Amino acid sequence: MANKPKLAVSACLVGQKVRYNGDAAEFRTLSRKWSEHLELIPLCPEVGIGMGVPRPTIRLVREDGKIKLVNPKNGEDFTERMLEYSEIQSDLLASSGVCGFVFKKDSPSCGVERVKVYRGDNPQAVRDGRGMFTTVFTTLNPHIPVIEEGRMSDSRQAEHFLARVHFFHEWLMTGKEGWDAQKIMQFHNDNKLFLLSRAPSSKRMLGRLIAELFDKGANPEFVALEYMTKAQKALNTLTSKGRIAHAMERVVGQFSEKLTKDQRKELIDLITDFRVGHVPRFAPLVLIKHYLRRFEMDKKIISRFTNSIPLEMGLMAKV
Ligand code: SF4
Repeated sequence: MANKPKLAVSACLVGQKVRYNGDAAEFRTLSRKWSEHLELIPLCPEVGIGMGVPRPTIRLVREDGKIKLVNPKNGEDFTERMLEYSEIQSDLLASSGVCGFVFKKDSPSCGVERVKVYRGDNPQAVRDGRGMFTTVFTTLNPHIPVIEEGRMSDSRQAEHFLARVHFFHEWLMTGKEGWDAQKIMQFHNDNKLFLLSRAPSSKRMLGRLIAELFDKGANPEFVALEYMTKAQKALNTLTSKGRIAHAMERVVGQFSEKLTKDQRKELIDLITDFRVGHVPRFAPLVLIKHYLRRFEMDKKIISRFTNSIPLEMGLMAKV
């Protein structure tokens, strides 16, 4: 891929000392390894609204059905400042071509899920909130994938999220000169195997969506946005080894008549070993890519599946 996908990230995760106590919370695999294949865009919402470092801790509080962001020591309310900043920055990030966002977990500004929310003066919080910046970002940009760094310490979650980021990047590149019906259909066709391997029912659902929206005379830019929003929602559920293995078998079906009986058996056995967890995805994938090169098969529908993230990221050896 010519240029790297842009990935927004909570600034403390890339080692910036912007936490309330002047510390960082570096997620080294992201900041030092995967970053070779991504353009990281760090952002700290609390520093962004002028809170400085170090600063008092703030918390989410629910009052009269509304969520506020306050300093519990003196009651200072940061809600309006944070909402305004979040709207502006979310729009800027989206228009600059950000393909995903990795947020710091548990933060009242950046957390994605299970963030503490206090009720009035009750010292017991309920973990049912989402950071205020994150709420605005995801509401304004439901088509952009997000995740907490805590989930990315699980290789399967990391691989799946990064595949969603690269899928988004491909979409952005395809539509950079503007969308038309032909480009949308081509993008969908090129990604059918990728979708089958990650969220099988979305393949047909998205095909229908395109047809229905164009039947109603929808603008291609709107159709493309709806397409990515629905696709990312479907991709929000982690895929399984079985789905990936099934997609691999489909690829093998494209060149199996060119293999000897032994070669075919070796490849199918390797895919089966992957499916039951005896070998990582890397093992059958490398052999499949070897045959694709040898038989000079470079169809996009196959490469979008086999190159869903760069092999050099090292994740295929762990999933
Ligand atoms: S969690 Fe978010 S607000 Fe807190 S230090 Fe990190 S980037 Fe800043």
